[in-house]
Amino acid sequence: MHPWHAMEPPHVAAHFEVDAQQGLDEAEAAARLQKHGRNRPSAPPTRSGLARFLSQLLQPLILVLIVAGTVTAWLGETVDASVILGVVLINALVGYIQEGKAEAALAALARSMTMEATVMRGGSRQRLDAAHLVPGDVVVLAAGDKVPADLRLCTGKSLRTSEAALTGESTPVDKHAQALPAETVLGDRRNMAYAGTLVVAGQGSGVVTATGDHTEAGKVSGLIAGAAELATPLTRKLTVFTRYLLVAILALAALTFAVGIWRGESAFNMFMAAVALAVGAIPEGLPAAVTITLAIGVARMSRRRAIIRKLPAVETLGSTTVICSDKTGTLTENAMTVQAIWSGGTSYKVSGLGYDPIGQITAAMQPAEITPPLRETLMAGVLCNDAKLLPTARQWTLLGDPTEGALLVAASKAGLDCDTLYSVFPRLDELPFDPNRQYMVTLHEIEGERLLYAKGAVEKLLPACSAMLNADGQPIPLAPEAIHQATARMAEAGLRVLALTRSTLAANRILDHDCLGADLVFLGLMGMIDPPRPQVRASIAACHNAGIRVKMITGDHPGTARAIACQLGITGSDTRAWTGQELAQLDDAALCTVAREFDVFARVEPEQKFRLVQALQANGEVVAMTGDGVNDAPALKQADIGVAMGLGGTAVAREAAAMVLTDDNFSTIEAAIEEGRGIYDNLLKFIVWTLPTNAGEGLVILAAILAGVTLPITPLQILWINMTTAVLLGMMLAFEPPRHDMMQQPPRSPSAPLLSPTLLRRIVLVSLLMLVGAFSLFELALRQGSTLAEARTVAANVFVLMEILYLFNCRTLSQPCWANGWFSNQWVWLGSAAMLLLQLAFTYAPTFNNVFQTAPISAQWWLTITAFAAGSSVLIELEKALTRPRGSDS
Ligand code: ATP
Repeated sequence: MHPWHAMEPPHVAAHFEVDAQQGLDEAEAAARLQKHGRNRPSAPPTRSGLARFLSQLLQPLILVLIVAGTVTAWLGETVDASVILGVVLINALVGYIQEGKAEAALAALARSMTMEATVMRGGSRQRLDAAHLVPGDVVVLAAGDKVPADLRLCTGKSLRTSEAALTGESTPVDKHAQALPAETVLGDRRNMAYAGTLVVAGQGSGVVTATGDHTEAGKVSGLIAGAAELATPLTRKLTVFTRYLLVAILALAALTFAVGIWRGESAFNMFMAAVALAVGAIPEGLPAAVTITLAIGVARMSRRRAIIRKLPAVETLGSTTVICSDKTGTLTENAMTVQAIWSGGTSYKVSGLGYDPIGQITAAMQPAEITPPLRETLMAGVLCNDAKLLPTARQWTLLGDPTEGALLVAASKAGLDCDTLYSVFPRLDELPFDPNRQYMVTLHEIEGERLLYAKGAVEKLLPACSAMLNADGQPIPLAPEAIHQATARMAEAGLRVLALTRSTLAANRILDHDCLGADLVFLGLMGMIDPPRPQVRASIAACHNAGIRVKMITGDHPGTARAIACQLGITGSDTRAWTGQELAQLDDAALCTVAREFDVFARVEPEQKFRLVQALQANGEVVAMTGDGVNDAPALKQADIGVAMGLGGTAVAREAAAMVLTDDNFSTIEAAIEEGRGIYDNLLKFIVWTLPTNAGEGLVILAAILAGVTLPITPLQILWINMTTAVLLGMMLAFEPPRHDMMQQPPRSPSAPLLSPTLLRRIVLVSLLMLVGAFSLFELALRQGSTLAEARTVAANVFVLMEILYLFNCRTLSQPCWANGWFSNQWVWLGSAAMLLLQLAFTYAPTFNNVFQTAPISAQWWLTITAFAAGSSVLIELEKALTRPRGSDS
């Protein structure tokens, strides 16, 4: 293996036959892609199918069934034993398939987050899918990127990477391009950037030395982000709950056995009764149903453009009480157009919209003369700029930051030619834009002089200015008051304001932040419009209705922030915007109050977002926070739901977030919250639906033993009911659409118990109804001369028909069952029809009769059972109406 870190960059480039400035040409890159394959790690080794299948058998419930089946076989009941063991196999198989499907769905989501890389190809800079990188490619790195392959760095400027993913070391390390001794260990190779690590600051470029499985990360198996975990707080709670339930049920089963023996029943009968009780009372379908409901929810959210990276987020979304959103790009379009310029004491207006350079600059309603200060303001905007406008068939498209694109368009409207400016004022160096400093600087050379242009937030640049240009372009003493007034006028109109400045730099000085001393010359201001996204106003109103506060936390000017917040309905026009500087003066207690009372925070530096999240959480809020930059990562991690941007955001922010918006749009957060609430609601519906059947079945057995009568239902029949109804009926609730008034309810308290007293009472009511129905109709059948098999068939059908009708009751937990529309979920109808067909087979097909000891029953019995089930269903609706919270629209 080549010690790339010990070689000088030109040697590495020569080895890969690439020009480190130009990059590979497309033909060569395509040939190498053929040879080396895609830059993608092969799928992580997963557990073997057999191991996954066997792990299904190790669940407590299945173990109980295995023991029951084995003892039954030992007692000579081969039919029962083989059905019980058959059920064990089917249950394990269903669990295996469901788990596989859920994992595959999540893994597919994880894969759908493709990574892009900036590469030099044939002399031009391009963004491409990182999977297409080949050894020898020249990759350009910027703060926020995820390193797409192993690179030997050729250049590096203040470059720092976080290699926690590779070395476990969380402190970022400085990177450079110089060669190192050959024996330098991996963690100290400062001139290499490794795949999967994150660029937290600076810029750099490097030659790809390894791709895919050949990268250091690819070699370490298990490092590759595997499928997301399937557990959430709720599933964990449920696992614990079912474990306790199991112990309680086993104890009850043992007691039943003991009571029966004491009464003189045969051990065999009592053993079968105990088994019946255990299999009846355990909610078999519960864990699988919860996982599947969550997985279906995750898939639904991804269709609504919200990708869940951490499964617990699905649940937390439903209890979100505050959304902290940044402004640019999330609430607004991030499509900037310069509309106002202030320079040399004159205000100008600029017409036109978008990136087409069609429009006019006017002053006092007349076409404006391009005066020297106006020209230099526009020129500074072009030179201190990294964006590019490309003509396409229909319109101009932008490559780079929209704020910078707008400056290019404004200059073109004044007739300035960007390419000419770039060649007359070649760029020597730059300090890229950094959201903490809020400005960008470039250094240019003209006729032996070194000119420095800076653009950025007015508050940041003005203190470093000592002069400004007059109408003739001559420097005069600075008049900060006039500049502040012009800024305020633009900001109050909702425009984003940039200041442009100039200075000179001595030949021997290296460009750094200290160069912006106190002698900048102020050139002018440019104000650009960034229209609010069309649906956002409605989404904010929906959040307010749902008891969710929306707070704007932006790096922009307070005036601009307030104007946009008013337009979007976040606040009224009379509220104030707090600035980052003011927040920094507050102690923690005061910050908590301000965070609670106010909704607009401007000129906030990314680091301050972390404090704001903490303050809100200290107030008991459940916080969703958006972020896109490198420095947003701590706040995203601290928030209950970190939300990153899929289009405009950095890889660093995405790694830290629980949810990624593929369209960067605030409205998507609102949609995800609605889905999150819906999913939790559906889980609850399943639980409320399934528990009474289990309790009812357990109670029937218990009552029979205590009363000393024949069991109304056998363990096999119970197993049949539980297995088929869980899949054909219960699972269908996962497809229930969100309630129409979902977003008119307050957020769910995360500390509230899973089942409210009302729901607990309902579960008890339905359990008792099932007990009464099954027991009394069984006894009635016997009394009317039915055989035991017929009477048991009646009892089993009571359970199934009641479950079918109760399923419709459970379609909404507090509204009438028709509130969501009778046919809004066709799955419950399909499932019910399929279940009925199976029950007909269970009752009339000879094979089923043999296996399950059932017998055909008359139509009159069906009528009686249906009447009882329908009566119960009506009673449950009455109970719902009586316990419905007041004020709920129904
Ligand atoms: P948000 O935090 O809502 O996305 P924002 O985009 O305004 O808002 P930042 O990107 O942090 O926040 O920008 C903060 C300020 O920095 C802007 O108001 C502007 O004055 C300045 N700024 C933004 N982009 C640039 C740039 N490319 N060059 C120079 N200054 C910039």
